[in-house]
Amino acid sequence: MTDTIHAPSFKQLSTLYADMDRAWTAAAAHYGFHCQGCVDSCCETEFYHHTHMEKHYLLAGMKTLDPGTVKEIQTRAATVCEQRNHARMAGETIRVMCPLNTKGLCRLYDFRPMICRLHGVPHELQRPGASALQGPGCETGGPLFSATDYFKFDRTPFYSDMARLEIEYRTTLETPGKIRETIAEMLIN
Ligand code: SF4
Repeated sequence: MTDTIHAPSFKQLSTLYADMDRAWTAAAAHYGFHCQGCVDSCCETEFYHHTHMEKHYLLAGMKTLDPGTVKEIQTRAATVCEQRNHARMAGETIRVMCPLNTKGLCRLYDFRPMICRLHGVPHELQRPGASALQGPGCETGGPLFSATDYFKFDRTPFYSDMARLEIEYRTTLETPGKIRETIAEMLIN
């Protein structure tokens, strides 16, 4: 399947991403929080991603890079997967830098998935029949977040829109089963 066939879905996805980025920036500005150069990089966290659409968008982003860079990133991705597998078998938890992160910068910033965009600032998530789930934000921003009033950053509409787009997108796939992959796995699978 070509990227041309994916194009309408990708357009909707990039619009949704832009909405997320705007909401995140407003929340961060409220706290005076700037996401840069922290020691405890969230890009080392083993986040799992669940949408085919985001995976394919990320892979479309890879096509914008030169072949040498693609090879370098894929080699790093394979190493990251290997390190995580070894740690898993040893019953250990490790932090490994995302293969797309070079010198603190994301090589596919415009193509990065939802969780990379929403992470960091305090948030809430509405759940049917239950109280809202509150997220405290990252440790680095902790002192700033606790020094001022909560800024309502509700992830719910973003999750809902993403789920709706993914359901539509899966109807275009030959193998629409569930996925649960890290960035490193997406890059080599
Ligand atoms: S995709 Fe980009 S923002 Fe997300 S973890 Fe990797 S380097 Fe960080």
